[in-house]
Amino acid sequence: MAFTRATGKHRRPSRVHRGTARAAGVAALTTTGVIGSLSAPALAAEPAAGQTGLTPVVTLGDEVAARVDAQASAQHEAAREAAQAAAREAAEEAAREKAAEEAAEAREAEERAAREAERKRLNTFVSPIAGSYVSTGYLSGGAVWSSGTHTGVDFHAASGTPVLSVGMGTVVEAGWGGAYGNQVVIKMHDGTYTQYGHLSSVGVSVGQQVTPGLQIGVSGATGNVTGAHLHFEARTTAEYGSDIDPVAYLRAHGANV
Ligand SMILES: [Zn+2]
Repeated sequence: MAFTRATGKHRRPSRVHRGTARAAGVAALTTTGVIGSLSAPALAAEPAAGQTGLTPVVTLGDEVAARVDAQASAQHEAAREAAQAAAREAAEEAAREKAAEEAAEAREAEERAAREAERKRLNTFVSPIAGSYVSTGYLSGGAVWSSGTHTGVDFHAASGTPVLSVGMGTVVEAGWGGAYGNQVVIKMHDGTYTQYGHLSSVGVSVGQQVTPGLQIGVSGATGNVTGAHLHFEARTTAEYGSDIDPVAYLRAHGANV
């Protein structure tokens, strides 16, 4: 017989067990006559046990104890299973939380990378004519220039070729520009200016925000020209005469020209 010692609220079964122990002890005494293996003080404290009908006490005690044992065992098993289920659930919840956290982190990293890529794209200049080349260089001499030298560069471009903003900025001029023909001037994000001349048509208006590669017009041969091309100029200020080397300027901003 297992003597499971219940605790706390299970005091009643515990008393039953003690009673059973005494009863079993007395039973052993009467059948074998050996007293040495028994707890003498416990026996002495219960002198009436042998006089009140031992057999019914033993039978009843065993049955009750067996029932209580079975009940305690079942309760113990149920508690153990409940604890295991709770632990399993907690582990699953922790795993779900970890997975969600990792997914959120991955999403964040992705968004960060996308923002960084977009930031880089917006800060990287492009050529004003895709896949073209400089047909007349900066500061090249010639009677055709009003200043005596070429204040920009000419990109080879057949009439009707899309003209692109080289970078991020705001359109400050869009329309007729005298010797430059139809032109667009953009104040760039870094405070410099870019100018696009001889356009056959202008596709933006003053105040418009532009980004690298956005089409701002179509190339042509308006103004003081001998043929279709794009005149592209870069300036440190809005004023004519503050021109800088356009190719070096584009390359310094990451353009592949
Ligand atoms: Zn030119």
